[in-house]
Amino acid sequence: MSQQAGRKFNVAVAGATGAVGGAMLEVLERRDFPVGELRLLASPRSVGRKLSFRGKEHTVQLLDKDAFAGIDIALFSAGGDRSLEFAPAAAAAGAVVVDNSSAFRMDPEVPLVVPEVNPHAIVQYKNKGIIANPNCSTIQMLVALKPIHDVARIKRIVVSTYQAVSGSGAEAIAELENQVRAWVEGKPLPREVYPHQIAFNCLPHIDAFLDTGYSKEEMKMVNETRKMFEDDTIGITATTVRVPVFYGHSESVNIETEKKIGAAEARELLASAPGVQVVDEPALARYPLALDSAGKFETLVGRIREDESIANGLNLWVVADNILKGAALNTVQIAEIVGRDYL
Ligand code: NAP
Repeated sequence: MSQQAGRKFNVAVAGATGAVGGAMLEVLERRDFPVGELRLLASPRSVGRKLSFRGKEHTVQLLDKDAFAGIDIALFSAGGDRSLEFAPAAAAAGAVVVDNSSAFRMDPEVPLVVPEVNPHAIVQYKNKGIIANPNCSTIQMLVALKPIHDVARIKRIVVSTYQAVSGSGAEAIAELENQVRAWVEGKPLPREVYPHQIAFNCLPHIDAFLDTGYSKEEMKMVNETRKMFEDDTIGITATTVRVPVFYGHSESVNIETEKKIGAAEARELLASAPGVQVVDEPALARYPLALDSAGKFETLVGRIREDESIANGLNLWVVADNILKGAALNTVQIAEIVGRDYL
């Protein structure tokens, strides 16, 4: 199966007016995706708004069950409830859905895909017409860990995240900006999105807490990693933290492997791994930074060093643009494979 040369695909973007939806349009442009018709969908609030794509204005239409006739690929980023309500309708209308929300990620019939990790799973979209995009924190961690897992088998992962506010959407980006401005002006800080002030603060609280004390975000990292590595025996423990950064999630990742792998070998493996850029010259103060990751497609990996407290352990610092590789880029990469190999 392969895409006919020059074939174009009719693409719908559900949630086109959001932080991720806007980035999807940017990525479709930057990667020269063969878009035929483009249908931009959002809530009644945005109907009639104009968004630009490849220099042409497109009018936002209502996201509803009838919005998908004639669409080949539907990219969803309008929240989990909208995905649950409208993704099956899009699939029934003949579109292949790539969904950014958590709605279908753990559905055993829906493939959960990072193209650098498990592209072979995409074929399972035929079950329900839906492919799930993993959580942003999981995506970048697995892009960095897959090459190591392939040669040394990872037994255990301990990860702490430092996640940008853009992961909570356009309103959260505005909240950080407004709090910083109010602080500079000596005014009371507005607070709507987060339970505490996010400016000049770190919140160890992403998504709701479960009875176990873990947050849902932390358990996404556990469950999604096991699903994509196709290994339920990997031990994973996560602490996810929101930090006052606009774009770019950072992660401290500690792994224990079955087979010994040294820092130099890991660095070499990662240097040739797809989607990875090694930035690891600490003596020159060169290491992955959130600010440097913003706008980039690659996952940056550095501070690669052996964990001296165990026999087979490594530490890594992993940074990526959460809106690009963590969401829009990964979605478009999946759509590229669907178009090339399956439609
Ligand atoms: P956002 O900036 O708040 O945008 C939300 C989008 O959803 C807007 O386009 C909004 O349209 C639309 N929407 C909201 N309610 C709607 C409704 N009732 N009917 C139709 N459209 C509706 O949020 P975001 O950051 O882009 O995130 C959007 C989705 O992507 C969420 O599901 C989020 O969980 C997911 N996401 C996933 C990752 C990841 O981990 N892979 C990363 C970031 C986000 P209006 O402008 O008309 O309100």
